[in-house]
Amino acid sequence: MRHFAVIGSGPAGFYTAEALAKAYGDDARIDIIDKLPVPYGLIRFGVAPDHQSIKAVSRRYDKVAEGGTVRFLGNIAVGEAVSIEELNGFYDAVILATGAPSDRKLGIPGEELPGVVGSAAFVGWYNGHPDFAHLDPPLDGAAAAVIGNGNVALDVARILAKTRAEFAGSDIVGHALDALDASAIATITIVGRRGPHQIAMTPKELSELGHLDAAEAEVEAGDLPPAEADAALDPGARKSVHHLREFAAHEDAGKPKHIRFDFFARPVAIEGESRAERLVVERTALDAAGQSVGTGETYSIPASLVVSCIGYQTPRIDGVPYDDRGGKFANDGGVIGDGLYCVGWARRGPSGTIGTNRPDGYEVAAVIAEALPATGVTLRRAGLGSTRCWRCAVSARRVSMTGARSRPPRPPPLAPTRRAKNSSVTPTGWPCSGTEDAGGHGRPSTRSGHACESQASPLTGPRSCTGWSAIRSRSGSSSAW
Ligand code: NAP
Repeated sequence: MRHFAVIGSGPAGFYTAEALAKAYGDDARIDIIDKLPVPYGLIRFGVAPDHQSIKAVSRRYDKVAEGGTVRFLGNIAVGEAVSIEELNGFYDAVILATGAPSDRKLGIPGEELPGVVGSAAFVGWYNGHPDFAHLDPPLDGAAAAVIGNGNVALDVARILAKTRAEFAGSDIVGHALDALDASAIATITIVGRRGPHQIAMTPKELSELGHLDAAEAEVEAGDLPPAEADAALDPGARKSVHHLREFAAHEDAGKPKHIRFDFFARPVAIEGESRAERLVVERTALDAAGQSVGTGETYSIPASLVVSCIGYQTPRIDGVPYDDRGGKFANDGGVIGDGLYCVGWARRGPSGTIGTNRPDGYEVAAVIAEALPATGVTLRRAGLGSTRCWRCAVSARRVSMTGARSRPPRPPPLAPTRRAKNSSVTPTGWPCSGTEDAGGHGRPSTRSGHACESQASPLTGPRSCTGWSAIRSRSGSSSAW
């Protein structure tokens, strides 16, 4: 029987686990390992809280997790608490689905000033990511600048512009909701270094800016190319530009907040006494290849908050070859090396929709299935020793994703044997407590879980490396997945 480790519990990780479970059936066990104690990655911490229909895809991931051959192991930082080399010894294959959670740098003077934040931090803050709960972005000034012309810039601008009432039905965390409600920001400038025909914004997301209660979107008509030039665009881009034309034609409705698109503006510096006060940009033009070139003309955009939404990169992991230019793992069709694969943004870079990760995960699972045929014998590679009940992990979602009622995840109840470097969480499992009140589901076990043999786990040592039944008895739980 094959044993696989999928590192990362976002969309790429789950689609890959789903594909492996289908390809191998009962001949494989799949451990989904995450450095956070809760699953879903990008779905939980990246997708905007007012986009609940997108977040609903996690229900599909629940089905994968409850399928009987998949476990979730949270609080384990791969590369810190356990190395890739160690994992290779414990699994037949390791699949990196770590996404691209790190901000790309602007590389301009003033980037380190207080008030300048990357989108990973800002989005993590309003989505309840534990690393960014204390970000406390300055919302006391009258103006903010959002750098980038992609969907993340749209998310950030929209979240900054919405009223408290407009967050009804969202799962924005309470600290962000209160801070945004008290925000003084009235002008949000979305800064793009190229023009309306070069935006990476999709029509549905762009159209949302036209229906905000307290804010109106504004585009300078002079920035738009002649209407007949739109015919050369693909249909999606044409729809997006259509929305920009609507914003340009729109009459001022007297709403208190304004979202201004500033095209052909390349950030060159952020200035201020002891915190960000203004973004300095250089006017650009497009060259023959459609790239932006500076014209030498500069001007300032007032901004005490600057959010840079210019794309993400995959964090490095010791021992894994890296593609510096692409900000992702060096790979050939998802293959990094012997027994080591990558999927999703860690494979392709940060592009595409959540659904793009499905064919991606299935493709790499097929490559793995060809390289590692089912053995049909007892599980020989034990994997890591402790686990966390899926129902507990999901119920923690109810705690941390319910807006004003949210609070940070509970610490795990078991004493760790080894701590992740620079981590506030312990690299051990979080077994089910067995009662609904405490976050457990209290269901009787329907499956025996992993047939873990005597191999010691690098995280928990021989004491806890006794498989699912021991974890169950330690926690008093009768749950399984
Ligand atoms: P993105 O789509 O790649 O957009 C990045 C933007 O940053 C581009 O406009 C780019 O301009 C600009 N940029 C890059 N470097 C810059 C620099 N040094 N100075 C100024 N501007 C710079 O990235 P994203 O917005 O982070 O989105 C990532 C992925 O997630 C995308 O596939 C996106 O569609 C997806 N997403 C989807 C949704 C949704 O569907 N609701 C929401 C959020 C994110 P150039 O074009 O000139 O390089």
